[in-house]
Amino acid sequence: MADKLTRAVTKNGFIRIFAVNSKNIVQAAHDYHKTLPLATAALGRLLTGAVIMGSMMKEENSSLTMQLVGDGPLGRVLAVANSKGEVKGYVENPFADLPLNRVGKLDVGGGVGQNGYLSVVKDLRLKEPYIGQVPLQTGEVGDDLAFYFAQSEQVPSLVALGVLVDRDYSVKQAGGFIVQIMPDCDEFNLKKFEKAAEKITSVTSMLEKGLSNEGLIKEVMKDFEVDILDEIDVDYVCDCCDERMQRAIVSLGKKEIQDIIDEQGETEIVCQFCDKAYRYDKNALEEMIERAKR
Ligand SMILES: [Zn+2]
Repeated sequence: MADKLTRAVTKNGFIRIFAVNSKNIVQAAHDYHKTLPLATAALGRLLTGAVIMGSMMKEENSSLTMQLVGDGPLGRVLAVANSKGEVKGYVENPFADLPLNRVGKLDVGGGVGQNGYLSVVKDLRLKEPYIGQVPLQTGEVGDDLAFYFAQSEQVPSLVALGVLVDRDYSVKQAGGFIVQIMPDCDEFNLKKFEKAAEKITSVTSMLEKGLSNEGLIKEVMKDFEVDILDEIDVDYVCDCCDERMQRAIVSLGKKEIQDIIDEQGETEIVCQFCDKAYRYDKNALEEMIERAKR
């Protein structure tokens, strides 16, 4: 089932807002990767941020890859999103675990770690790819993404991403919002927003109250008049396929493929995003050697 992402802008045009309920997306990630709660929360927050950023891209068929690389036990956390509302991702160590943090929440910052970076690569198809990278701030994902927007894209942003994991490890709530100040925003409205932002509660508590995307936007932007622009479907989608997997093997080159045949006789590749297994026997591998020669 698809989740919904809603785009809005203040009537004065100075501030834009994106809100998403990503419960099904994060549940799908949990189902594919069998993540423990810490990884569910970290990957879930990144997927939530990525799907919003994907919806910001105007170029058709463009996509972006976001990575959190820190020194925590989760290892690399990666998400890929596109402008059609599709997102997928994985975490290097889905079974990493840590005690709850000082405020009794899943310790995502500890799981990701602090020494490292957040990188964003945008594949804009016809144009040169855009690459941005910032040092990790807290590893809590939302803070890191806000820092990225400020540093790399020079857009002051408020980013709130939240995942609540239930006792049975299923996803109870997931969602988030990004508020961005447009370059032409005047001082008065900027101050007004900064004041309002101080009173915003956590996104998971808003989701727990049952707020829709529109309700969430109105809650966050209650001091402003807001126009809801549109609502789009967003979903966890993996587009892996046999041909793509074969191309990955072919790209290893004929010597590597021959080594696989000599050592293992056959090979199996498992998709990192959806755990689907692709098996290639000796005949298939020999055909790939022929392709690699061409
Ligand atoms: Zn896949």
